[in-house]
Amino acid sequence: MLPLPILGELTPGTTQRHLIKLPGAALANDELRPVISVAGAKPGPVLFVNAGVHGGEYPAVEAVIRLGQVLDPKNISGTVILMPVLNLPAFRTRTPFVCPIDNVNPNRVFPGDPRGSYSEQMTHALINEFVVHADAYVDLHGGDIPEALVPFVICRSEGGVADSKARDVAARSKQLALAFELPYVLTVSKPVQPAKGLSSYAAAAEQGIPAVLAEAGGVGQMQEDAVALLVRGVINVMRHLKMIESVADATAIANDEARITNDEGNPTAKTTARRAVATTVLTKFEWVYTKSSGLWYPEVAAGDTVTEGEQIGTVGDLFGDTLEQVVSPVNGVVLFLTINPSVLENGLLMGIGAA
Ligand SMILES: [Zn+2]
Repeated sequence: MLPLPILGELTPGTTQRHLIKLPGAALANDELRPVISVAGAKPGPVLFVNAGVHGGEYPAVEAVIRLGQVLDPKNISGTVILMPVLNLPAFRTRTPFVCPIDNVNPNRVFPGDPRGSYSEQMTHALINEFVVHADAYVDLHGGDIPEALVPFVICRSEGGVADSKARDVAARSKQLALAFELPYVLTVSKPVQPAKGLSSYAAAAEQGIPAVLAEAGGVGQMQEDAVALLVRGVINVMRHLKMIESVADATAIANDEARITNDEGNPTAKTTARRAVATTVLTKFEWVYTKSSGLWYPEVAAGDTVTEGEQIGTVGDLFGDTLEQVVSPVNGVVLFLTINPSVLENGLLMGIGAA
């Protein structure tokens, strides 16, 4: 069984650990990246899940590790491939947003370039060695070290897509996003920031692979509730893909996960049946920037609803004078928020999702 050539032979019914060297001259001296394969006893789809495209999104990293511990290959149809950290240079140095080797945000240069900078070679390797061999792709994120957020999933919008195959991939991506069961699903039709390349999920969709990017947790900490949301979200996606046959199997996995995540050692606290989650679908992502360098005083929290024209914070200088009153450009919900006070000119303050 050889679903991904870079991992070699996988034995059905087993979980295997791999230490892999990604191709690319710029990556030649990298430490080996851990990958876990969970090869189900029965045939089925290949699901690829990674975290750590950004270096300080720890609940996402932990969720991938936990999945490797709780998924039982005997109960799975198909194969789950798990990579806890892609951007190891950023993870090792606690560098938010970018890779410290080339100062590039890897999630703006997908699908990468084998002759490009470090981040471009790294994203190229991820797409070509992992994503294109999968039937579905989940990229786990969260707020990076200076960001708080409310859990949400992003995928490509099917609206306005002329090509029927691309529209089908977008529709299947949205089904995965809804299956994840986070409070918000954001479908987007264009990159939210002008960039050389695409985000992971968009590049995967261009290759015909249904894909989502799910976010939970933030501010450089390990929030157990965020870890649990991401683990359960991936399990929900597996059930949607029919990789787990029965709801009982999925619930058992989620309960195993809950036992591991419960700090108090009380296995009953989080083992209640799945709750129904109301997911709100949003279609616009407005990012708010400061004009001035200074101190940022937000007047909203992640998850708050805001109205167009409402003051959502101020930016002051080091004498204590207000430089700028920041107002919301739309009616929407604050999906992520910069929480560290020091901001630079044109610095990102928050992202607002709108219907
Ligand atoms: Zn991220």
